[in-house]
Amino acid sequence: MKILFASTGEKPEVWLPLLKEALPRDELAVVPSKDVDVALVALPPAGTFEKIGRPRLIQSLWMGVEKLLADPTLPRGVPLARTIDPGMVAAMSEMVLACVLDWHRNLYRYRMHQRAGSWQRIGQRMAGDRTIGLLGLGELGSDAARKLVALGFNVAGWSRRPKNIPGAECFTDLAEMLPKSDVVVCLLPLTRDTQGLLDGKTFAAMKRGGCVINLARGGHLVLKDLLDALDSGALSHAYLDVFEREPLPASDPLWRHPGVTLTPHIAALTEPRTALPRVVANIERVRRGEAPRDLVDFEAGY
Ligand code: NAP
Repeated sequence: MKILFASTGEKPEVWLPLLKEALPRDELAVVPSKDVDVALVALPPAGTFEKIGRPRLIQSLWMGVEKLLADPTLPRGVPLARTIDPGMVAAMSEMVLACVLDWHRNLYRYRMHQRAGSWQRIGQRMAGDRTIGLLGLGELGSDAARKLVALGFNVAGWSRRPKNIPGAECFTDLAEMLPKSDVVVCLLPLTRDTQGLLDGKTFAAMKRGGCVINLARGGHLVLKDLLDALDSGALSHAYLDVFEREPLPASDPLWRHPGVTLTPHIAALTEPRTALPRVVANIERVRRGEAPRDLVDFEAGY
């Protein structure tokens, strides 16, 4: 089979040797052509889809596919699969735990006290005193939920379809979950239904003085509403990894906002060593004439 690697987001010098070793019988290409069987993509160069016609599979090397779905040149009717990368899932859960623990143990406040040379103790709370609300219980949210449960937090989660995660309370009605939540963690795909969901209404429905952690996409957050909620004390802190405009310009006042801890979209990166077996497994399925796994639902938008 002919396999195209088309990505400005993932490094060919890392992926191509790994692919060559795992798929010795196949032809690997970096230049698009009409005879491609499988296209591996992550931010493909402009014009890629027009040049490849209709491959048997388009495999996204990333878990978020909203940019691909918004691309008018993406061939419709060709299966589009996501790479569910165990390394990335683990990295995301680490990031969720890091942010939740930073807030829960008041490290964000102690950093400010340290800068001021101020020895102040803040009362200790137990994990069981806090409820962590997860928006999205998919590959990322469900793993984070299990690890938060293991640490003793109360875990509430929201998804479109009902879920059953031992130790967590699962909701399909957001209005039921938010009032229980001290912390809201966004792990949703960006779709027409989830755009702008982290807004003033959501913050007002949470427990007062809580925290918001957005590790999904910048488009989920209404920034002005977040700043208002931080100013009014409705929220005590926010952890933001993703932004409408990336990279966030150095001049943006958000960098210096004391209520915000900011990271440069690093919550979870594709880890080629753990993603490769998933990619190869889907290529082998196509070779055998079987349906690929982890297909994107075009109707739902994720
Ligand atoms: P996923 O497996 O598709 O799970 C998405 C979850 O969101 C599912 O539980 C889904 O409900 C729920 N959902 C979607 N639309 C909803 C709606 N309208 N109402 C309620 N629940 C809804 O996705 P994933 O692999 O966990 O990834 C989630 C997102 O994380 C990606 O799309 C990407 O944007 C982001 N991400 C960010 C980084 C980073 O470094 N910052 C890294 C990787 C991924 P159902 O279970 O009912 O379908």
